[in-house]
Amino acid sequence: MFQRYAGLRSDYYARCHHCGDLVSLLTQVDESCRCGRLLKDSSACRFGHSDGDASIAIYSQN
Ligand SMILES: [Zn+2]
Repeated sequence: MFQRYAGLRSDYYARCHHCGDLVSLLTQVDESCRCGRLLKDSSACRFGHSDGDASIAIYSQN
């Protein structure tokens, strides 16, 4: 369920399929989306969605 994002460029965002919130993969803090399904664990450099990886979309600013 969880994917490592270390190595992704810092301007990437993960978008929750359920609520549409964007969670930055840049900051070194734990974050979650509005509905709480998309969680980022900065200490472990990973993120995941409670509905599965198919519910995550990765976006770049560029
Ligand atoms: Zn959400």
